[in-house]
Amino acid sequence: MLRTVAISVLAAAATTGTARADFGRSAPRDVPPRQGGGAPGRVPAPAGVLTRLPGDGNQLALTIDDGTNTAVVAAFAQFCRDSGARLTFFPNGVNPSWTVNAALLRPMVDSGQIALGNHTWSHPKLTSLSKDAVADQISRNADFLRNTYGTDGAPYFRPPYGLHNADTDQVAADLGYTSITLWSATIGDSRPENEQQLVSFAERSFQPQQIILGHANLPPVTHTYAKLLDIINSRGLQTVTLADVFG
Ligand SMILES: [Zn+2]
Repeated sequence: MLRTVAISVLAAAATTGTARADFGRSAPRDVPPRQGGGAPGRVPAPAGVLTRLPGDGNQLALTIDDGTNTAVVAAFAQFCRDSGARLTFFPNGVNPSWTVNAALLRPMVDSGQIALGNHTWSHPKLTSLSKDAVADQISRNADFLRNTYGTDGAPYFRPPYGLHNADTDQVAADLGYTSITLWSATIGDSRPENEQQLVSFAERSFQPQQIILGHANLPPVTHTYAKLLDIINSRGLQTVTLADVFG
């Protein structure tokens, strides 16, 4: 079903010749593969808190966290493979989903379609931990990502629950994670919502240059992919990874 929708979207984009084609499987050939087609050019990843993408483009950064459910991570991976969508995962390495699905995800990480960031090893509230414990959470996850995916996701670090302070930011920066990557909008999937509610969230949140927070935890979102694609394409938005935007 998703494949059918994606192909029909591509066909529509091909016939209209709009930027929607950038959403498809193949990037334009005249730009470096890690840069999204039509991107206004890379800028350095900001040191400090990042909440939205810079500039006035048509980019949408989907960022998907945690991965407590192996089947949901697999569904997101299949969504990327079928649709060509570019997104950034923020895994917690403690969840087996990132190991079980590594063979499916790794080629898309290698190609740059999927980027990674660090979300700590086991998702604690960092502001309640000692600096040593914060460092251990970040570096353990960095080791896991490097060993499993060949990249540690630096400089992007997302503190669990968005909870951070000057101390946690400094520890992260000392480990190479200089961009505290928060978000500007959400698809509301951190709690068990029904599919229509998730789509309603997406209709509000999918706007140009937004960093969208989502989760690979609960199954309902996996039933909304076709509708999410419809919103993205009908608005002429282009999915990008954080690495597409910042260099
Ligand atoms: Zn999280």
